Amino acid sequence: MAVSRNDVLAALDQVIDPVSGRSVVQQDMVQGLVVRDGHVGFALEVDDNRGREAEPLRLAVEAAAKAVPGVLSVTAVLTAHDGAPSDHHSHDHGHSHSGGHSAAPPPPRQAPTGPTGVEGVKHIIAVASGKGGVGKSTVAVNLALSLSKLGLKVGLLDADIYGPSVPRLLDITTKPETTDGKRILPIEKYGIKSMSLGFIIREDEAAIWRGPMVQSALMQFINQVNWAPLDVLVLDMPPGTGDAQLTITQRVAMAGAVIVSTPQDIALIDARKAIAMFGKVQVPILGIVENMSMFVCANCGHEHPIFGHGGARATAETVGAPFLGEIPLVLKIRELSDLGTPIAVAEPVGPEAAAFMAVAKKVATALETTQRAAPKIVLE
Ligand code: ADP
Repeated sequence: MAVSRNDVLAALDQVIDPVSGRSVVQQDMVQGLVVRDGHVGFALEVDDNRGREAEPLRLAVEAAAKAVPGVLSVTAVLTAHDGAPSDHHSHDHGHSHSGGHSAAPPPPRQAPTGPTGVEGVKHIIAVASGKGGVGKSTVAVNLALSLSKLGLKVGLLDADIYGPSVPRLLDITTKPETTDGKRILPIEKYGIKSMSLGFIIREDEAAIWRGPMVQSALMQFINQVNWAPLDVLVLDMPPGTGDAQLTITQRVAMAGAVIVSTPQDIALIDARKAIAMFGKVQVPILGIVENMSMFVCANCGHEHPIFGHGGARATAETVGAPFLGEIPLVLKIRELSDLGTPIAVAEPVGPEAAAFMAVAKKVATALETTQRAAPKIVLE
C-alpha cells in the first residue's frame, strides 16, 4: 500500500516538542514534507537558539516517520544554522514562518548580515555553468586538484545536491565521520578535502528534497564540516541559474566564480545567464573556461572543433570577464573521470592536465590579487 502524506503527518503529530509541549505538527515545525515511492523527506524547523540541541527531536521525528508502514527511507533535516544568518532572514526561503514558535520566545531578530564565510578558509569559489552536461564537475574536480598541486590547501564541496558527481569522480565510497555528532570530517583523497551529499545518502533520496532541505544541507556542509585550514574551497555548483543557485550565492561569501561553457552559441547564452546571476550578488567572475573545446583524435592526433571553438573566449571579451583557458574534448578525460582517477592526478604530465593547470594558475593569481569588495545583496 502506498504511503500518503497524511499517514506521515499523523505519525509526526505524535511527536511532542519538549520545549513547547505541543506536537511538532501543531507547532508548524515540519516543513516541505515530501513523500514519494516510500521515500520521505522534510525539514524540522527549530528556533536558532536551540540549534543542535534539537538533534534528539530530529531523531525522534525521523524514527516516527520510519515506523509508518511502507516507508522505505526518511531524511529529516534540521533547519537551524549556527554561525550562519538565520533562515528567518532569508527572503526566498519558499516556506512560511507564520504560526508556531509561540511557546519559546523567538530570539531577537537581527538585520540580515549578508553572506557568511568559513573561519579558516581564505577563499570560497564557485564553479558554475548555465546548464548541465558541459563538464562543470569535471572542471571543478580537476581545478581543485590542480590548485592543490600548486601548493594550496584545497577543499571541494559538491553543492550539486540533486546530481552529486564528486563521489564518482573521486571514487569515494566511504561515509564521512563525525567527531562529536555535530562536526563532520571531510574525506581526504588525492591531497584535497571533499564533501558531498552523495557520500551520505542514495541519489534517489536527495531527488525528493525540496528547497529548504537542500539549502539546509548545503549550509551544514559549509558551516559544520571541518574544512579549515584551507586556502581555497571549490564549490561545484548545481547547474543552471534557478533559485537554489541564487540562494547559495547570496548566503556564502564567495571570492569569485569560474564559469564553464562549451563553445556553442546555445551553451554560451546560458553561460551569460550564470554570469548575470553572480553579477546580481556582486560576486566577481574569475573567468570563463571553454570545455570540450577541440576534439583531439586519439588515433590521428588531429584537432576537430566538434562543438565549435573560441566561443567562450569571444563571450569573455564581450562581457568583460577574463578568459581562463580551453580544455580539449578528449576521450581519456571521460574515461579517467569514470574510473574516479581525474586526469589531473592520473596523467599529471599530459597536455590535458597542463590545460587544467593553466586554468588553476590563473585562478590562483586572480585570488591573490582580487580583494573582495564587501558584498552587497541586490534584491529584485
Ligand atoms: P556537468 O557537471 O556540467 O553536468 P560533467 O562534468 O558531469 O558535466 O561532464 C559530463 C560528461 O562529459 C561526463 O561524462 C564527463 O566525463 C564528460 N566530459 C567533461 N569534460 C570533458 C572533456 N573535456 N573531454 C571529454 N569528456 C568530458
